[in-house]
Amino acid sequence: MDLKLEKVFLNEGECISVQYCLEMSDICFSGTKPFRTPVKTDVSIENHAGTVYLKANVEFDFHTSCDRCAVDILKRFNYTFNHILKLAVDENCDENSIVIENYKLDLDKLLIDDILLETPSKFLCSDDCKGLCLNCGQNLNQGMCGCNTYQGELHFEVLKSLINENTKN
Ligand SMILES: [Zn+2]
Ligand SMILES: [Zn+2]
Repeated sequence: MDLKLEKVFLNEGECISVQYCLEMSDICFSGTKPFRTPVKTDVSIENHAGTVYLKANVEFDFHTSCDRCAVDILKRFNYTFNHILKLAVDENCDENSIVIENYKLDLDKLLIDDILLETPSKFLCSDDCKGLCLNCGQNLNQGMCGCNTYQGELHFEVLKSLINENTKN
């Protein structure tokens, strides 16, 4: 979505707001297309004492898989992004400044860039995901497979729980 921001830039106190659904289903991220449903956006742009501020809230479902055991994971993210819009580069520009040309802002591009930067690229189904057996491929969260590779870990787990029991008493 292209926004023409001439009115906002030229009038102090001027504010516009836009809510729309941003389609990102074709966007690849870490080798998959995790944005299967549209991203809900709520954007306001305001000229406050001559400075033009953009605030964007985005909310979306993120379909991905566990980095260790590969089960499907669905996460919901909610982010707020803040930017200052400028017509030219100046000495106050920082990483949150966006320089636009001819008062025209490509809002889709800005939000997509923000979302891709902010979203983590690796996920675990849980912090203690046991992963897959390197030998047979069994998902070890669903039970042990009997391979020797896992026995060592099992003994360690038993030992750890014994230690925990002892420290409790
Ligand atoms: Zn997992
Ligand atoms: Zn195994």
